[in-house]
Amino acid sequence: MIEAFTDFYPASLWVYAVISISTLIALVFIDAPYGRHMRDGWGPSIRAPWGWLIMEGVALLVMPLCVFISGAEITPLTLVFLLMWCGHYGNRALGDSWRMRDTKKTMPLIIMLMAVFYNILNGYTNGWHFLVNAEMYAGNWLLDPRFIIGVSIFLIGASLNIRSDQQLRRLREEKGPGYHVPNAGLHRYIAAPNYFAEILEWIGWAIAVWSIPGALFAFYTFCNLAPRAHAHYTWYKSTFPDYPDQRKRLIPFVW
Ligand code: NDP
Repeated sequence: MIEAFTDFYPASLWVYAVISISTLIALVFIDAPYGRHMRDGWGPSIRAPWGWLIMEGVALLVMPLCVFISGAEITPLTLVFLLMWCGHYGNRALGDSWRMRDTKKTMPLIIMLMAVFYNILNGYTNGWHFLVNAEMYAGNWLLDPRFIIGVSIFLIGASLNIRSDQQLRRLREEKGPGYHVPNAGLHRYIAAPNYFAEILEWIGWAIAVWSIPGALFAFYTFCNLAPRAHAHYTWYKSTFPDYPDQRKRLIPFVW
């Protein structure tokens, strides 16, 4: 059983790369139908808090599970990586779904199932890496500049992501239901600072882990979120006539 997962590992990286590029191409033409872009015609739906709990809960569980069942050695370094992963996905799966518990909003079941599939692939590749490439951490990786720089970028990304999401949530607490133009923090510069920060986070992870699955994770996050940042930007522009002209989509001052 363990051998089968190890044998599948190289092929799974190719699958991952193909899925990332396909996602980017698809999302250039189709706005993923959840949140403000939710619309009919996508089949049965599920309440948004349950959708987020299930799809992100899978991400929270699969990667640690793969590390443990693969038989990879659990070192202080592995524990740091597990902490980074579980910190992010614990907040996303448990924190976010709890914070949106009162919403009546739904998401298409198909979107949730696609995210579940992706999160299994992502968790498996990123978790199994610690068995397949264990030898690369044989030295003191905790002192390696890649680890130190990567973790620093990850932490900056994570704190910006949490803060940008909080600033969005606060809009409804202060101004009532619906959507408002956000003007706090990085929102002054870009339409989707939470996405910018999420991409930063996984770039940090990729540098700290220095692995192909890590790089694919950062690449996929960009493929998934850059088109959505564009969709948000276009939506803001067409919904709010006073939306600031100088604001960019995803990268401050650039795009
Ligand atoms: P959005 O920015 O679309 O929405 C975040 C939350 O803020 C939602 O509850 C949304 O409500 C609310 N909101 C957004 N804009 C406004 C506004 N102008 N006024 C009032 N409320 C607003 O993010 P997502 O829901 O797409 O993503 C949530 C988190 O998950 C983000 O941190 C993101 O980075 C992460 N994520 C990561 C992905 C990955 O590939 N790694 C993929 C998708 C998300 P509503 O739901 O009603 O629109």
